[in-house]
Amino acid sequence: MFSKSPPRAWAEIDLAALAANLRVAREAAGCDLMVVVKAGAYGHGLEEIARLLAAREIAFFGVANVGEARRIRAAGVETPVYLLGPTWEAERGEIVARGWTPCVSSLSEAEHFDRLAAAAGVRQKVHLAVDTGMGRGGFVAEELPQAMTALERMAHLDIEGIGSHCPSADEDEEFTRRQIAVFRKTIGLLGGPARFKWRHLLNSAGLLGYDRDLCNLARPGLMLYGVSPLPDFQSRLATVMVLKSRITLTRTLPAGHGISYGREYVTAAPTRVATVGIGYGDGYPRHVSGRGAEVFIRGRRCPILGRVTMDQVMVDVTAVPEVREGDEVEMFGPNIPVAEVAEKAGTIAWEIFTGITPRVVRRHSGA
Ligand SMILES: *Cc1c(COP(=O)(O)O)cnc(C)c1O
Repeated sequence: MFSKSPPRAWAEIDLAALAANLRVAREAAGCDLMVVVKAGAYGHGLEEIARLLAAREIAFFGVANVGEARRIRAAGVETPVYLLGPTWEAERGEIVARGWTPCVSSLSEAEHFDRLAAAAGVRQKVHLAVDTGMGRGGFVAEELPQAMTALERMAHLDIEGIGSHCPSADEDEEFTRRQIAVFRKTIGLLGGPARFKWRHLLNSAGLLGYDRDLCNLARPGLMLYGVSPLPDFQSRLATVMVLKSRITLTRTLPAGHGISYGREYVTAAPTRVATVGIGYGDGYPRHVSGRGAEVFIRGRRCPILGRVTMDQVMVDVTAVPEVREGDEVEMFGPNIPVAEVAEKAGTIAWEIFTGITPRVVRRHSGA
């Protein structure tokens, strides 16, 4: 018999904090919510998050693909599922059979769903995706009114919704306001708001920063996971994920000793160095190397030394003499905001969350 080997890196996920952020989103949006759970609920565990929120009157779960839709159903969650991006032809039979709601960006997609629904003897719910400036999918706003005539003739489609997406709700207010106006105008040309049961445009930054206008559904993602794309709202959100590891080794290295690959960091004086059991193989970004990133140990911020390696990082703990092997290390969480790690890595919090690899054990609590 061997003793259990504890994980070297894990993510503590506070479901009560997520539920609190959901309340903030609901209040800020002032309408129903499509909770975006793509990419494994932004790395927080798709099944756990879907089960937690299933009972909380969510209008839809928004997913990236059919694989994620299947996982939600396999978890026993019956909340309507919305597919945020285009679907492959080969997936559409299952979408119709399982009653998932796709968005459609073209007449050919719509026709295919119409034929499949006719064959199955059902009416397939779809939402029209409108491109009001994202450039990623949807009917170009100016072309949709003409396509609508053909869409309305598809007897086995129930066009119950219309949606668009904001590319710069956290960066460009003037553009976003124009986009909202285009969405409003398009809805007007298609028969007015009453024509669509669901009208949706705003992501986290959108719903925090803008009035919902004609929309009656908002699509928050990031803010539910505790990070506001608009810094002004950060204090209203609770931290959901804490990424942690442990010190595996501590040593004092002499002056002039290189640390990590490339020897970009060389000690100027004798330095107490802690080796921590997490690296880019866990999704902790290598790009923070040499950028002044810090971790949190025993109540103190401690700088990372040299490059992040695949499974280990080295940290200066000279200023925290009580540090011991086995001590917990917060890589990000309440004391080191994930947005700070993202900024030092030259990326965004969305990518840090979704980049946490399967090796990192997710521990959920607070349900
Ligand atoms: C990912 C996504 C969202 C959620 O965006 P956040 O910025 O994380 O709130 C909303 N809508 C669509 C279409 C998306 O792809």
